Amino acid sequence: MKTIQSEPRIVIIGAGFGGLQAAQSLSNAPVQVLLIDRNNYHLFQPLLYQVATATLSDDDIAYPLRAILREQKNLEFLLANVKQIDLHSQKIITDTDEISYDYLILAPGSETNFYRNESLSQHSFGLKNLQDAHRIRQHLLLQFEKASREMNPDKLKALLTFVVAGGGPTGVEMAGAISELAQVVVKKDYPDLDFQEIRIVLLEATDKLVSHLQTDLSKNTVISLSRKGVEIMFGSKLVDYNGEIIRLDPFQTFPARTLIWTAGVRASGLMDLLGLSQAGQKRIRVLPTLQLPEFSSAYVIGDSAYVENSEGKALPMTAPVAMQQAKHAVRNILANIAGNPLKSFTFQDSGMMATIGRNQAVAQIGKFRFTGWIAWLIWLFVHLIQIIGFRNRLLVLFKWSWEYIFYDRTGRLLEHQAYIKRDMDESNP
Ligand SMILES: Cc1cc2nc3c(=O)[nH]c(=O)nc-3n(C[C@H](O)[C@H](O)[C@H](O)COP(=O)(O)OP(=O)(O)OC[C@H]3O[C@@H](n4cnc5c(N)ncnc54)[C@H](O)[C@@H]3O)c2cc1C
Repeated sequence: MKTIQSEPRIVIIGAGFGGLQAAQSLSNAPVQVLLIDRNNYHLFQPLLYQVATATLSDDDIAYPLRAILREQKNLEFLLANVKQIDLHSQKIITDTDEISYDYLILAPGSETNFYRNESLSQHSFGLKNLQDAHRIRQHLLLQFEKASREMNPDKLKALLTFVVAGGGPTGVEMAGAISELAQVVVKKDYPDLDFQEIRIVLLEATDKLVSHLQTDLSKNTVISLSRKGVEIMFGSKLVDYNGEIIRLDPFQTFPARTLIWTAGVRASGLMDLLGLSQAGQKRIRVLPTLQLPEFSSAYVIGDSAYVENSEGKALPMTAPVAMQQAKHAVRNILANIAGNPLKSFTFQDSGMMATIGRNQAVAQIGKFRFTGWIAWLIWLFVHLIQIIGFRNRLLVLFKWSWEYIFYDRTGRLLEHQAYIKRDMDESNP
């Protein structure tokens, strides 16, 4: 690694929405930037569910960081896993190096939270990264394959029951996408399987889906999902899953071979190592300037940071929050270097949306609310322009158009990997 002593060194941990934005915002600044990530790509997480349900492939939504940043002369990229952060001596320990910094921007995001429920973490699928999306896709396709030769009606029922826990945007999108995958795959590839046998269940512990949206949009989501054949169970708290049986509170059980867990997320485990005050979802409490209390050279942004809005509510874990905080942290660091006063962060909320599938979405933009086809077009446009790389945008547009016109998904390849074998062995002891 090159080291240039004369300019302040800013180390950024994480090249997700926040970290990448921070790095790019520093491109013309008289500083040395070191961007560290354990992956060599930037991942567009909002479309992960489409990789999981065979619409898109990995490299449609992931882009190599070195390619994104190759023109940025004041930046180095380090592929490494950060293991420890010593805020007192301003040092970072990775699996390969020990690195010192003048300023630190922590943007390691979040991870799935199984709330220490061992059986849940062992038998259900989270959806946070490409590995998760692969595992889900392989598992879903495998259930149809197994169902096609299952004679026992009870086992068939369990194979074709797909449960998604969590009625937030990811759960809603996932349930809608599984319903469409079933339509496409089963009807075309397994003509002998009865589509009516398929059960897609969305579990929500409260009485509302996508609760961050206005009530009418939330109700519209329920109607759209129901039309797609998704069974929504409100007030159903999942307490256990052993890979075979779903157990709910209030007491109810039913068999299912698939559980996708989108009901819990928490700040990156790196935050636990700092030994500082953590708020809900283990997010680190930062000052309004986004600095860590008592460690003014360190900033936390994105999913890992706990910041409240003017009404005292935690800002959501979303890409716009992470990106706006990134720009703000950079402005404050540069102000600090120049000896100017730092400013407090305020989030400019541009809206929220969720898609339920073909021609169906809900969107809340300022005081305007959209549903159905219009909302779906807005969703498509907003997501398309955010994907990094012209080639990727073009590919995604092509795949979406192909699926829309031909009701076909190209990504339904089953690989004969170890975990698939395990999955097969478990069900055929
Ligand atoms: C399935 C899904 C759908 C979503 N849909 C939407 C949506 O529609 N709209 C929206 O606004 N938001 C959505 N989100 C949330 C959004 O993706 C996050 O809020 C956003 O990514 C947070 O940005 P971040 O920079 O804090 O973290 P991330 O973007 O998660 O980036 C964190 C980075 O840190 C790296 N990292 C973590 N730990 C280490 C370590 N120890 N060492 C090195 N590198 C490390 C990771 O590899 C990653 O690249 C979705 C999230 C998911 C999972």
